[in-house]
Amino acid sequence: MIIGNWKMNTLRADALALAKAVMGMGCSSSTRIGICPPALWIDAIAEVVKHSSILVGAQDCVGDKFGAQTGSINADMVRNAGCSMVILGHSERRARFGESSEKLLNTVVAVLGTGMFPVFCVGETKKQRESGKASDVVVGQLKPLLTAGIDLGGIVIAYEPVWAIGTGLSATRKDIEEMHATVREVINRDDTPVLYGGSVSPESADDVFNARGVSGALVGGASLNADKFAAIVAAWERK
Ligand code: PEP
Repeated sequence: MIIGNWKMNTLRADALALAKAVMGMGCSSSTRIGICPPALWIDAIAEVVKHSSILVGAQDCVGDKFGAQTGSINADMVRNAGCSMVILGHSERRARFGESSEKLLNTVVAVLGTGMFPVFCVGETKKQRESGKASDVVVGQLKPLLTAGIDLGGIVIAYEPVWAIGTGLSATRKDIEEMHATVREVINRDDTPVLYGGSVSPESADDVFNARGVSGALVGGASLNADKFAAIVAAWERK
C-alpha cells in the first residue's frame, strides 16, 4: 500500500492534473494506491478516479456527528465525498492542533463506522529518539487503541518518525525494522498493514521497502510529483 499525503498543497487544477497522472501510472493489482488531497478537492478527485483502483482519502476529519462545529468536516461527509480512508493523528496535527491518540479515539470509531479505514500515524520526535524513548512514545500512542478495544483489523498504521517528515532524513533500515517489530508486537496482529513514512523518495524507497515488516509507505512531498510517486510505487513492486 502506497499512500500520498498532499497536505496543504495544490489548487484545484493542479490537484485534478496530479490525480489524472497518478491514475495513468499503472501498477499491479496487488498494490493499493491511495491519494489524500486537500478536503476541498476530494469530491472532484473521487469523480476523476472512480473507474480506477485508486483510493481517495481525507487528511483528517472529526469524529462527531452533524452539528454546530464551524469549520469542521466529519467522517460521514468525507465518506459521502468519495473517501475510503482518513489519515488520523498525523504528527503535524498532533503538534499544531493538540491531537492525541486519546482525543482521536472517537474519530477512529466514527471513521470505522462509515466503512472507511483510518491511517493512524505514530512516531517520535528527534528529542524523544535521542533520549532513548522512541519505542515508549510509539507504544504509548498505540495503547489507547488497544485499551478502547478498537478492531485493529480495520486499521492501517503508519510509523512516521517526526524528525524524518519533510526533512529529507530517513530512518535507517535498522531503526525502521526495530520500530515495525515493536508496533507488530503491541498490536499483536499480522493482518494490519504497518506503513513507513518520512521523506520516502525514489532514492530512499528501495532501502525502506527492504526493511522487514514494512507494508508500504505514506508519502508526503514526493507524492506531489507524479514521476516521483510512480518511482516509489515501482520500487515497492520490485521488492
Ligand atoms: C507525511 O506527511 O506523512 C510524510 C511522510 O511527509 P514526507 O514524505 O514529505 O516526509
